[in-house]
Amino acid sequence: MNSKYNPYDNVLSVVANAAGILGYSKSEYEAINYPERELKVAVPVKMDDGSVQVFEGYRIQHSTSRGPAKGGIRYHQNVNLDEVKALAAWMTFKCAVVNIPYGGGKGGIVCDPTKLSVGELRRLTRRFTAMIAPIIGPDQDIPAPDVGTNATVMGWIMDTYSMLKGHCVHGVVTGKPIELGGALGRGEATGRGVMLTTLNILKAMKQTPSDATAAVQGMGNVGSVSAKLLHQQGIRVVAVSDVSGGLYCADGLDIPDIISYLSAKRGNTLDGYKREGIRFITNEELLELDVTVLVPAALENQINETNADKIRAKIIVEGANGPTTVEADEILNKKGIVVVPDILANAGGVVVSYFEWVQNIQSVSWSEEHVNEQLKEIMDRAFDSVWDISQEKHTSLRTGAYLIAVKRVVDAKNMRGIWP
Ligand code: GLU
Repeated sequence: MNSKYNPYDNVLSVVANAAGILGYSKSEYEAINYPERELKVAVPVKMDDGSVQVFEGYRIQHSTSRGPAKGGIRYHQNVNLDEVKALAAWMTFKCAVVNIPYGGGKGGIVCDPTKLSVGELRRLTRRFTAMIAPIIGPDQDIPAPDVGTNATVMGWIMDTYSMLKGHCVHGVVTGKPIELGGALGRGEATGRGVMLTTLNILKAMKQTPSDATAAVQGMGNVGSVSAKLLHQQGIRVVAVSDVSGGLYCADGLDIPDIISYLSAKRGNTLDGYKREGIRFITNEELLELDVTVLVPAALENQINETNADKIRAKIIVEGANGPTTVEADEILNKKGIVVVPDILANAGGVVVSYFEWVQNIQSVSWSEEHVNEQLKEIMDRAFDSVWDISQEKHTSLRTGAYLIAVKRVVDAKNMRGIWP
């Protein structure tokens, strides 16, 4: 993360703008400026070499006004309190904009998971789970994967929590392996939501997918699935990147081949992918390409006031959480670049997490086809509502999304009232 920007300030300023347009007084929305609960833990882990290392971890519940807190757990060396607070708040507004019955939460551990062995990761996850167990649960707060975590990690969380309770608790976490009550389609859900959103925005702007080009920053779960599904939809994906840099080919990249190269071995990165006709580019160059759609699907603050002016994409679909700073957003708006905000564009993951939780609670299992159909219905409806309000109020899509989300959260909070 670029430490110059505080992502939580970013959240506060976007919320204040929406609350102002909605006509709320400060006291009507003041409470949503503060996370309801912040837990910080020190997690000791016995490392493979016999030494003990202590990792800092967080679980933050921003809001439970509309339902239990919901949101992922991030393992990354740059995790910090303000980042997790922002990520938790974005979850609140994301769940609200797609209208699923959750609040928002997020967790994180300051660690570089690529440098830990599987055994170390498992011990870290189990101890962390035990330390946050008092505040999580299927009716309280439901974690899920985020940057640096995956289904295996969710399986460890489910098992640890179940061991502590003395019985199997599937619904405590989503994004689990299918064998442990995971939902079919959850693994691809965020990228699928990005693809559906891209098709929706192209349609709204009267553009044909086969004439469109795309560049995707990030080849983690969100970036790689987005690139794959955009490619499947006939959009020419001309560039992708990861931590090692990017690949560019004007005729379009062979996305399935790139993905199979990356997944062949743990630690494979794009700089090792050598094929004829491909040019290596930097992450900065990727962001500045002249494409129809740019999908930032990595970390926060990638598009900021230093590069916003150089962005040439017509449309930005935010696969990552918080990839655009407030300053950059203004510059992009002035340039007429259409930004589909993170809380809408990357909501597919949490929507299918919701389906997973519903299935767990009811002890039923849905087909992948049914999951994908329901996901499309929710994503399309949310897109239309954001598009319509933005047209009606002459705002950016981000402001439109926050008008819907902030209203739902504030109204729920105020209807419940302040206890006692
Ligand atoms: N980490 C994902 C996000 O930022 C998914 C959260 C979830 O499924 O709860 O939306």
